[in-house]
Amino acid sequence: MQETSRRHTAKGKSIGFVPTMGALHDGHLSLIRRSKDENDIVVASVFVNPMQFGPNEDFDRYPRDIEGDREKLEKSGADVLFIPEAKMIYPQGFATRVHVDALSERLCGAFRPGHFSGVATVVCKLLNIARPTRAYFGQKDFQQTVVIRRMAEDLNIGVDIVVCPTVREPGGLAMSSRNAYLGAEERKAAGAINGALQAAASVLRSASGTVPEAVSAMKSVLDKEQLISEIQYAGVYDPLTLSEAADEGKEKLIAVAVKIGRTRLIDNILI
Ligand code: AMP
Repeated sequence: MQETSRRHTAKGKSIGFVPTMGALHDGHLSLIRRSKDENDIVVASVFVNPMQFGPNEDFDRYPRDIEGDREKLEKSGADVLFIPEAKMIYPQGFATRVHVDALSERLCGAFRPGHFSGVATVVCKLLNIARPTRAYFGQKDFQQTVVIRRMAEDLNIGVDIVVCPTVREPGGLAMSSRNAYLGAEERKAAGAINGALQAAASVLRSASGTVPEAVSAMKSVLDKEQLISEIQYAGVYDPLTLSEAADEGKEKLIAVAVKIGRTRLIDNILI
């Protein structure tokens, strides 16, 4: 992969890189298309990274469809598909971990200890392997984009991190490989996630709306949905620090993580 990148770079070509865990949907493909618009060569990777899953998480049952992925990537204009094996990424003796302080501990980090070190480590490695000009990530995983931007800047990786809008189903549910776990009733219930984000947004857009009012509007939408088994967080945050937002200040991140049955789903919007 490094050699392939070097060859293209030597010819003056720009490389756009889209790292994924596969089971691709239109959200992933929107990143491929954006990368195609902005670069000469598009490299996609499919790697279900064991380091970012906790011991009781869904690593073993995470959806995998490499043939389907290959076809979708080809149709969307990807030029190179990189599918490393875990033993190539983490050979015997592997001992290095990349950890982004503070940002990794907030929001999802509080519920998934070690997750963002796993993400930062693998993305750092993938960027060093693919050597892209630009790398593309979805806003759907907002905290991930913040952690990766920090890591890339702190470690002088020399890549432009591009964040692309969240692609949604017609009913507003954010596309996710994990939506495949949902039964029909659960999928309907998952509509409450976007409903809660919109409820908070409409409070904050009104002239007198406060952050606590927005948070309680969100919670009341989520509480009404019987199939939501756990609300991990639902709140309004500062998009730079991920700490709780004050009423003053410009841009705000409204973000949610819930469980529906065993399936953990996240979503967010910026206003
Ligand atoms: P994943 O395969 O879940 O690791 O996702 C790979 C990339 O696709 C990440 O940058 C995600 O943020 C992005 N992505 C996942 N779902 C969506 C979506 N619905 N819209 C936009 N980007 C997404």
